Amino acid sequence: MKVLKFGGTSVGSPDRMREVAEIITRDEDQKIVVLSAISGTTNALENYARDLLKGDKDEAQAGLKKLQEDYREFLDTLYKEQEILEKAQQYIDERFDFLSALSNQVVTETEEKLVLAQGELMSTHLFSWLLEEDGISAKLLPALNYMRIDKMYEPDDYYIASMVQKELALTGDYPIYITQGYICRDAFGKVDNLKRGGSDYTATLLGQAVKAEEIQIWTDIDGMHNNDPRVVDNTYPIKKLSYGEAAELAYFGAKILHPSCVLPAQKGGVPIMLKNTMDPDARGTIISSNDSNTDITAVAAKDGITAIKIKSGRMLMAYGFLKKVFEVFEHYETPIDMITTSEVAVSLTIDDCSHLDNILHDLREFGEVEVDEDQTIICIVGHFGSDQSGYATRIFSSLANIPVRMISYGGSRFNVSILVKSPYKKEALQLLNQGLFDL
Ligand code: ADP
Ligand code: ASP
Ligand code: MG
Repeated sequence: MKVLKFGGTSVGSPDRMREVAEIITRDEDQKIVVLSAISGTTNALENYARDLLKGDKDEAQAGLKKLQEDYREFLDTLYKEQEILEKAQQYIDERFDFLSALSNQVVTETEEKLVLAQGELMSTHLFSWLLEEDGISAKLLPALNYMRIDKMYEPDDYYIASMVQKELALTGDYPIYITQGYICRDAFGKVDNLKRGGSDYTATLLGQAVKAEEIQIWTDIDGMHNNDPRVVDNTYPIKKLSYGEAAELAYFGAKILHPSCVLPAQKGGVPIMLKNTMDPDARGTIISSNDSNTDITAVAAKDGITAIKIKSGRMLMAYGFLKKVFEVFEHYETPIDMITTSEVAVSLTIDDCSHLDNILHDLREFGEVEVDEDQTIICIVGHFGSDQSGYATRIFSSLANIPVRMISYGGSRFNVSILVKSPYKKEALQLLNQGLFDL
């Protein structure tokens, strides 16, 4: 079994959807096809839910109406057969009626999650009818029947594996299964999601659950590039990455992969291929346990970081001090990304500021606290063996004119992280591109 995931742009127009149908029928391998929502849909649904939560019903309805018109146009050019078109129209109208009716009731986080789930439900239904029209044998596998997160919002591996097997057995043997990316149920059975970009995560969780021979992530670029192509010119695709390298890049901002999606593939030992729907024959990137890269591989950047420094001459050297600091973050369920220590202070970074005020209040018990918002972590990934020299010089001489707030090196063999103020990000990424890679 293979798992193939297609992102929003890859299903973003009727022509693109037809190309996906072509790609998945190129060989006879049995496959589960994971689809994202049609591009722009999740953003529009997010806006709709936000407007409803704000109580701005008119704004909400105007946005929803525009989205519904886009879908009507989409359907008109997607199908040839009247009967299938009517079936699809009816389904889409029902989804929009459901969404519209929510504006007359109290909207909480529960309804918000239901709103966000509609994008993937619509794209997968539309696609399955396209295959039906083309006479391609395929069956829908409802993600809400098998994908679940636990009370800590982590995927429930055991439940997913057993339920997906059950669902496959109930559905019967088909060459192609189609399923929704991103959506899941929470520990109490309510509709939830795997956070933005979560369809990649669905694909790797499925790959692990069904012990797939391969996971393919099809998107709008020819693989993982050595630097952020949205910010820097002259980037190039990397042929192969180890799981460790890919996980660091995904976590630290390479948008092509969901931040957490590498781990399930690694746990299951399933290779991930990153492929380009616009250029299916391009080689792309393969992510596997093979860690044969021997140099700096790539750079990524993660914005929206807040740095916190705790200065405490009195307590820092005492054992137990860091434990107390970490307990504050644990209490507010806030992960720490980077950490550096000196004799008089400890600096760390977080990207989730929802409990910042409480965190700062508690940390002030231990000493003086300074906060810097609007920071960016730049992560340089490669193989930094402890017996190899010269990497630090190359990195820091490239960044000679950039003020650096924090440096973290040695946490893993794969990563050097640097914290800069966000306005310096673009220049820093460009300088690293020139200084670290043979362009
Ligand atoms: P999809 O909708 O298919 O999931 P995404 O927009 O989530 O696609 O991810 C693909 C995009 O990720 C690319 O178009 C590219 O702009 C962006 N990106 C950011 N960093 C990288 C990188 N290092 N390599 C490749 N793409 C990257
Ligand atoms: N549709 C969701 C999003 O836009 C999930 C995904 O595309 O991966 O974030
Ligand atoms: Mg994505």
